[in-house]
Amino acid sequence: MTRTRQSHDLLAELGGFLLGASCAGCDLPGVLLCAACRSALLPLPVDVVTPSSLAVRAAMSFDGVAARCIRRLKGEGETLLARPLGDALAAVLTAAIDGARGSGDVLVVPVPTTRAAFRRRGYRVPDLLIRRAGARETRLLRTTRSRADQRGLGIAERAQNVHGAMRARRAGSGERVVLVDDVVTTGATFDEAMRALTAAGYEVISAVALAATPSHRGLTGHSSSTHRRHGGNDP
Ligand SMILES: [Zn+2]
Repeated sequence: MTRTRQSHDLLAELGGFLLGASCAGCDLPGVLLCAACRSALLPLPVDVVTPSSLAVRAAMSFDGVAARCIRRLKGEGETLLARPLGDALAAVLTAAIDGARGSGDVLVVPVPTTRAAFRRRGYRVPDLLIRRAGARETRLLRTTRSRADQRGLGIAERAQNVHGAMRARRAGSGERVVLVDDVVTTGATFDEAMRALTAAGYEVISAVALAATPSHRGLTGHSSSTHRRHGGNDP
């Protein structure tokens, strides 16, 4: 039986006890995630290129049911949602790891969580998703200073806000890395992670995210340096 099936059964089972709960996707009472919303989380990959030309593959668009589930995981402590969301991440993460493994070992490195976010949640979202996706994370990066919330900032502002915000915990010697984050918007955070790892002697070969924000509408600044290609699920 597949892991997807198991997590579906787990959710169905837990649903019976969660009388006060409602579906993260549609508010149906009594379940954490209904069958229809569960199937809305099937991966439909979206490719993003960061301003520094790092290729990022996201498992799905950050909209609809996926966006609601991710917000509940990130904002409301609903960690059980990391299972179905981790299943979706697995589709892109496993492919990235397998694609890289042909030429040696590859480290799966989560984008670091700020101390404030970790204190608030008690868990690190990218790390949790990596584990639920069936991989093992190597926490090579740490944040060096607090940074402002990226929301509401334009592309150039985001890059400036995050620059110098990360550092590798130890020096590398050419080890190859797949970077992982929960949501990719402009890619400025991935670029900073790549900068910090490259400076420490690692080689970032690709990056994956659970979800990509569907457009840069609402962001100030010009988006010409960030190219996107949708998997066919434009809102
Ligand atoms: Zn639902």
